Amino acid sequence: MIDLHSHSNISDGLLTPSELVQHAANNGVRVLALTDHDDLGGLAEARQAAALHGIKLINGVEISVTWKKRTLHIVGLNVDPDNTALQTGLAAVRAGRFERARQMALSLEKSGIHGSFEAASSFAQQSILTRMHFARFLVDRGYAKDPKAVFKKYLIKGKPGYVDHEWMSLESALGLIINSGGVAVLAHPGRYEIKRTNMLLLLEEFRALGGMAIEVVTGSHTAAQYVEYAKYAQLFGLRASQGSDYHGKGISFMGMGRLPELPSNCIPVWQDWPEIDSLLAA
Ligand code: AMP
Ligand code: MN
Ligand code: MN
Ligand code: MN
Repeated sequence: MIDLHSHSNISDGLLTPSELVQHAANNGVRVLALTDHDDLGGLAEARQAAALHGIKLINGVEISVTWKKRTLHIVGLNVDPDNTALQTGLAAVRAGRFERARQMALSLEKSGIHGSFEAASSFAQQSILTRMHFARFLVDRGYAKDPKAVFKKYLIKGKPGYVDHEWMSLESALGLIINSGGVAVLAHPGRYEIKRTNMLLLLEEFRALGGMAIEVVTGSHTAAQYVEYAKYAQLFGLRASQGSDYHGKGISFMGMGRLPELPSNCIPVWQDWPEIDSLLAA
């Protein structure tokens, strides 16, 4: 019923913002956050569709961040899409993405894979360029059977299509989210392959910078990870969030409207959001 992480074709999802909202409504979601990568451009359309389908839309974004040479994702919820500093910061990240995509294409070129920049761009249409768009090109050409296999073979660190990239700093991302009135959520912590010592450092720093919650239930976590990250949240006095991270049919970890409940020791990130309280009480 509450899904606080999803993507439209403004970033690397397959559905338009309106289609995504309709899909969510059809699958029983009542509160949806649209959290496109580094872009707020889908929120206005999603808001209109949400009114049509009786869904509560949360303005969101998923910011790409570099922390200690690692890429992390920070979800901002209830951000202000008209906030100039946030818009400017995200525009800079998107410019970096464009340059990175050129480098990825050059690198793939060296492995004999030609034309990936043009092809990824055509998958992306007007949206930002992500590794997912390169993945779709590579699957299309038969280099692997699905995005998952393609990432493993071509798009992760050490593989031909991977290039190191400096994203926004953790401090800037949290500053922009919080100063625009939003709350910052550490997205899918189970995906970072960070050992416990560093996870403790990260959560310490995240909280010190004003971070509010971590995603406990998310499409890419196992049931054991729900429990593990619920404990981390409790340990740091952080709240818990939940979201499918839906991208579209065939390229998602999980469908919409299928999220299990947060473990009982969690404080939901939406605990004192009045709109949701009234919706849940109804
Ligand atoms: P980027 O932000 O351009 O590096 O692209 C990252 C996006 O690729 C993520 O948001 C996911 O949508 C997708 N992605 C990353 N790793 C995987 C994976 N192992 N399998 C499938 N999709 C992935
Ligand atoms: Mn994505
Ligand atoms: Mn992510
Ligand atoms: Mn995501």
